[in-house]
Amino acid sequence: SKDTGRNAYYFYDEAMNNDAEEHLLLRNGLRLAIERGELVLHYQPQMDIRSGRMVGVEALLRWQSPTFGLVEPGRFIPVAEDSGLIVPIGAWVLEQACRQARAWQDDGLPALTVAVNLSAVQFRRDDVEATVDQALERSGLPPHCLELELTESILLQDVEQVLALVQRLRQRGMHFSIDDFGTGYSSLAYLKRLDIDKLKIDRSFVHDLDQTADAAAIVEAIVEMAHKLGLRTIAEGVESPELLDRLRDIGCDEAQGYLHARPMPAQDFSRYLHAHFHN
Ligand code: C2E
Ligand code: CA
Ligand code: CA
Ligand code: CA
Repeated sequence: SKDTGRNAYYFYDEAMNNDAEEHLLLRNGLRLAIERGELVLHYQPQMDIRSGRMVGVEALLRWQSPTFGLVEPGRFIPVAEDSGLIVPIGAWVLEQACRQARAWQDDGLPALTVAVNLSAVQFRRDDVEATVDQALERSGLPPHCLELELTESILLQDVEQVLALVQRLRQRGMHFSIDDFGTGYSSLAYLKRLDIDKLKIDRSFVHDLDQTADAAAIVEAIVEMAHKLGLRTIAEGVESPELLDRLRDIGCDEAQGYLHARPMPAQDFSRYLHAHFHN
């Protein structure tokens, strides 16, 4: 009826206002989050499927807010990107992740690659190179132990500029992967020119791998294409042994997901590392 229609509109409108309000509250809180020490990194292992050995670790940001509690990145990263706060936050993440990886090496653990998510907003900035160099310098982490995870959306920017930047950082020894691969717009032509190491197969394809033939066909095609281009593949969101078996059959190189471990704070991850490498 007309009445319900008006109510529906009213609620929709209110929801929009609440979103805008939340956005504002989050933004104001985020502004002080770094200096107040409210940002924390959690770490999740990346496993080589054939050997079962840990080869890398992804750093995932969390915000421990006194007002909102533990805020997931899906809620505050978009706010940080819109407000430009992602720039100082991203610089903090890079340095913190590099310092932690270096600390694990100093602790006598085998060198792992630490993977850090870079927002397209960060990647667009002129000072991104200096920011990365500074994180490596201050932490003492060798560049080959750092992997930068980019999303396909960076390819919507000036492509020549992106290709040149990636190449310069690669010459210093850093690694690159394309995150959420298959969900964005990368053209194969750019992919071939982009000097990267690895494709991260999006969780949505991995999740349906054992359920739909389409998802299996997509994962198989990505792995085959990646290998032909000389790239490694890592599957995200690996939650069960069955999925891991399927991925092994397909020839996927690495796996990351709840099957091995959920993302955890640095201290817990240290214990996890010691148990993994000393058993
Ligand atoms: P992402 O880079 O694709 O990260 C993987 C997400 O999948 C993480 O969510 C992780 O906790 C989750 N995950 C890992 N294993 C599994 C699994 O087996 N099953 C399921 N269902 N999920 C799994 P999280 O930590 O909430 O991060 C969400 C997104 O926020 C990330 O997606 C990334 O795009 C962004 N993000 C996180 N940290 C940073 C950061 O430091 N900088 C930037 N720019 N973005 C970040
Ligand atoms: Ca990622
Ligand atoms: Ca991803
Ligand atoms: Ca994602």
